[in-house]
Amino acid sequence: EDSMEGISGDLFDAYLKPYFRDYLRPLCKGDTFLVRGNMRAVAFKVVETEPGDCVIVAPDTAVFCDGAAPVKREDEERLDGPGYDDVGGVRKQLAQIRELVELPLRHPKLFRTLGVKPPKGILLYGPPGTGKTLLARAIAAESGAHFVVVNGPEIMSKVAGESEENLRKVFADAEANAPAIVFMDEIDAIAPNRDKTHGEVERRVVSQLLTLMDGLQPRAQVVVIGATNRPNSLDPALRRFGRFDRELDIGVPDEVGRLEILRIHSKDMPLDDDVDLERIGKDTHGFVGADLAALCSEAALQLIREKMDVIDVEEETIGVDVLNSLRICNAHLKHAMEVTKPSALRETGLVEVPKVSW
Ligand code: ADP
Repeated sequence: EDSMEGISGDLFDAYLKPYFRDYLRPLCKGDTFLVRGNMRAVAFKVVETEPGDCVIVAPDTAVFCDGAAPVKREDEERLDGPGYDDVGGVRKQLAQIRELVELPLRHPKLFRTLGVKPPKGILLYGPPGTGKTLLARAIAAESGAHFVVVNGPEIMSKVAGESEENLRKVFADAEANAPAIVFMDEIDAIAPNRDKTHGEVERRVVSQLLTLMDGLQPRAQVVVIGATNRPNSLDPALRRFGRFDRELDIGVPDEVGRLEILRIHSKDMPLDDDVDLERIGKDTHGFVGADLAALCSEAALQLIREKMDVIDVEEETIGVDVLNSLRICNAHLKHAMEVTKPSALRETGLVEVPKVSW
């Protein structure tokens, strides 16, 4: 309502054009909708609309029309983020992480009864783009846990004490919204080995992180998942004594894993019969999940480029017959393979052999 006040008549009319209608989703009195923030969904109901008979919400808001069943917790969880089905090639790691994180978060009593302390932290290590973030998000979404993301380099501040304060806030937020998962991406940036770093800020942040993790009570139901590409550069104290004392290797996927990931990323694509995903899985040695996702998008983009002559971009909508005729073929994927480079191999230096100067 507030956001509509400043919009002039013309603009308001523009919003109500059919294509904007689809995009901006006008809501009427009595409709319920979900707003996602911080990986958690909150349901609202429209009680009144002014000045018109509808209001407009952000495009990613989930809308349930009047009279629909109330939003159930289970549904919210599904809407909150990716599920286990969206992560491929990590079957073993997924089973382990479910046992270590999901089970204690879901059934704390079971662990208490048996007198077992669930882990406070686990470390996922492996090259970028292998699905560490995706995995953590899936665990949070499927177990209904609050999800807090901390990006290592971003939390660091030059202002004295601010980095530690940022970390304390993150943990306080997690504890207040438990069960919760704190995901620390690029944790090596905030917790480097104190013996090897000269940075005063880093030293203080490592100590703060140790204190915060030690202070987590098993009852608090907060698990910290750290992700790093360089586990050996972490401060060793973090990898011991009940902190990140479980480590899972999220490596570059093998052929079977690549096929699983390709299937995930092409599941909503209209694939032509001539597409042989198994073949592509075989030929993409060194590709990580993110590369395979990029490969699928590139194939689709190639198809769009090809179809530009039949797609009229000036038109409001693209004809159903055009949409129905779109097929991603082997040739598009082949082209995509030629232009997509496997990032993991570049990162680990296996492609570029370092020059020796003696
Ligand atoms: P990381 O945290 O290891 O750097 P991300 O989880 O951020 O990697 O991966 C980036 C994107 O690549 C994901 O959002 C997803 O689309 C795709 N992706 C990466 N790994 C996988 C995987 N194992 N299964 C399916 N998709 C993946």
